[in-house]
Amino acid sequence: MNLWWSLVDRPIFALQNLNQEWDVAIVGGGFSGLWTAHHLLESIPTLKIAIFEMDKIGTGASGRNGGWVSALYPKSDGELSKNFSVQQISDLHNQLESAIDEIGAFAAKEKIECGFHKGGTMTIATNVGQLQRLQGDPGYLDREDTISRISMRSAVGSTYSPHCAAFNPAAFICGLASSLVTRGVAIFEDHAAIITANRALLVRGEAISAKFVVRAVEAYLVNTRLQIPVYSLVVATDPLSEETREIIGIRNRETFAQASHLVTYAQLTSDNRLVIGGRGAPYSWASRRSDRLESRAKDHARLRSMAMRWFPILKESDFSHAWGGAVGITRDWSPYVRFESNYGEMGGYVGDGVSLSYLAGAAMADCILGNESSRSRLPFVQWKNREWEREPWRWVATNLAITATFLADREEQLTQKPSRIAKSLSFLLKR
Ligand SMILES: Cc1cc2nc3c(=O)[nH]c(=O)nc-3n(C[C@H](O)[C@H](O)[C@H](O)COP(=O)(O)OP(=O)(O)OC[C@H]3O[C@@H](n4cnc5c(N)ncnc54)[C@H](O)[C@@H]3O)c2cc1C
Repeated sequence: MNLWWSLVDRPIFALQNLNQEWDVAIVGGGFSGLWTAHHLLESIPTLKIAIFEMDKIGTGASGRNGGWVSALYPKSDGELSKNFSVQQISDLHNQLESAIDEIGAFAAKEKIECGFHKGGTMTIATNVGQLQRLQGDPGYLDREDTISRISMRSAVGSTYSPHCAAFNPAAFICGLASSLVTRGVAIFEDHAAIITANRALLVRGEAISAKFVVRAVEAYLVNTRLQIPVYSLVVATDPLSEETREIIGIRNRETFAQASHLVTYAQLTSDNRLVIGGRGAPYSWASRRSDRLESRAKDHARLRSMAMRWFPILKESDFSHAWGGAVGITRDWSPYVRFESNYGEMGGYVGDGVSLSYLAGAAMADCILGNESSRSRLPFVQWKNREWEREPWRWVATNLAITATFLADREEQLTQKPSRIAKSLSFLLKR
């Protein structure tokens, strides 16, 4: 069960007539779709916009994530520099950093009670191998400074960045959706949409008339070599006692991760629960999405053990919630916003889609309106992704990469040196 949704009441959206002339029809009621509508209305408040969601608003990754509003970008600067100038890369990072504040300002303006707090983020090394990879990064903290902020067992050093906030994503998306409805957007829940090969839009068997159609379904896109679903699982504790919080720190609600090869992420919520997530579940053949892999007991148990290794005091706390979801990963780790004539598509944010979808929505709105802007020039706009290999190679390479992350972490723990496995398989792990 998902913690975030257990803490909020879902709004109910009044049903409207499907057969209207829409200016923009958006498929997918996650952050991408909703931010696109928001940014369109910021430019032209009178636009007639419909959002079609096959389940409920925020059912996808937007209502399931770890609640990091970060400035992270899936692709490294080194990889970006092969196609973009230093100035373009710097603009991207500046815009990602500003997006955090803009999302926070939106929550404040709309009085969305989502526990938004910008306490920065820490990446914590728990062995010398991890530490060597962090050294030289900006915001380096030695062991003592690290432990004074977050008392993770075995911590040997960390990096700190002020550019991250924590929030409850489900509470936020409910507030965002309600704000859009107040501004005239029609939200159709339980309305699955089909975009045909010639880009016509069908909903419940009816052809929908819209000047522009946007596909914003992220990891739900199947039968494609554009992206693969990779699973991320999450567990949460009951609210922690004052004594436990005193021991573990996290006094400024810094989000944090271990500097391991396996992706991990954690936050302390506004009601003092630890929410801890991580990847590691296998990829399923032919990029199928699998409900089973989104909530595999084995992966949840692994996350709970990891949390108790980080903070042994957690053995005295109960873990109350466990859930998961899929992220969309393109072959070149680049997100995309593409627009051509009257059709747009967006996604591929890996696990960094909260702030990125805000920028992607702004870029999509500018593309639709034909506005030249700093957002429509971002590196992921009109980017042509490399395709994934065909099966069985995709299955072999992806699961090999997932296994390699576990082995590389084990190796670093044993040798206290940066992993040779990770180095030799860097072509698979490289972003
Ligand atoms: C477990 C987990 C943890 C994560 N943690 C973080 C984090 O801490 N920070 C961060 O930045 N990012 C994180 N992410 C990634 C982030 O949540 C996503 O990148 C982002 O929410 C994607 O938003 P979206 O709107 O593009 O996709 P989604 O939120 O998945 O929305 C797509 C929607 O489309 C709907 N849909 C699909 N097909 C159709 C159809 N045919 N018709 C109508 N509707 C359809 C789906 O039901 C879904 O609601 C995490 C993701 C997961 C799964």
